[in-house]
Amino acid sequence: MLQGKTALVTGSTSGIGLGIAKALAQQGANLVLNGFGDAAGPLAEIRALGVKAEYHDADMSKPAQIEDLMAFAAASFGRVDVLVNNAGIQHVAKVEDFPADKWDAIIAINLTSAFHTTRLAIPAMREANWGRVINIASTHGLVASAQKSAYVAAKHGIVGLTKAVALETATTGVTCNAICPGWVLTPLVQKQIDDRAAREGIPVAQAKKDLLGEKQPSLQFTTVDQLGGLAVFLCSPAAEQVRGVAWQMDGGWTAQ
Ligand code: NAD
Repeated sequence: MLQGKTALVTGSTSGIGLGIAKALAQQGANLVLNGFGDAAGPLAEIRALGVKAEYHDADMSKPAQIEDLMAFAAASFGRVDVLVNNAGIQHVAKVEDFPADKWDAIIAINLTSAFHTTRLAIPAMREANWGRVINIASTHGLVASAQKSAYVAAKHGIVGLTKAVALETATTGVTCNAICPGWVLTPLVQKQIDDRAAREGIPVAQAKKDLLGEKQPSLQFTTVDQLGGLAVFLCSPAAEQVRGVAWQMDGGWTAQ
């Protein structure tokens, strides 16, 4: 379905970003990967699916590096057809204890980076009259949890950005939507499970069960493959009139 198209997924060296990159590659899209850590492994995994893939190490908290990333994608493949704003970090602390530098980093990476990639990607999408902007928000884009003020603010912000961009592109072939996962067992969540086990002096398996039981009625993690499937659907012709939604895939978290 996406042969000849190019997808850029920020934060795709791990977790949800890598899962979505694989799902788009399975549909034939060429990929621009980004993120910290090992890039060789993810690049090899994507290329093994028979598409072209390149990697850029932009730090998504730095606007100048985001401009480099977008110029690199255009130079490598002509333009970005599918933009997945996925890079994100978490920090857990009460608002009165929240380190100001962590607040700034979370807003920059989880929210502002999507503004920069989107503003830079939209002109070529408009020209082609086809494009997909998919923002990886969270249930925390719709509801809050204690001790996550920066994350909740950033994720509510990206849901708002999604709606505004969807309206600005409403008469074109460009759509903009958000995906709101519940708990997904990635390094970002494993750290919260490990911290909980240490804090409460309980086994990691128990901390995992408690974490799910608290919020996610299905008592199962959402998987990166399921999220990849939703991203592929949002790229399909059937999703042409899906515009400005914040689509939960959260085992019932926000139905409560
Ligand atoms: P992860 O830690 O596995 O992956 C995060 C990715 O972002 C990695 O590739 C990392 O290198 C990259 N990254 C982090 N800081 C970066 C920076 N400054 N510049 C460039 N890349 C950077 O996390 P994940 O769970 O896969 O999270 C991906 C997205 O999904 C995030 O936006 C997160 O908020 C969101 N999300 C995750 C869950 C969950 O339960 N895991 C739930 C809802 C939403």
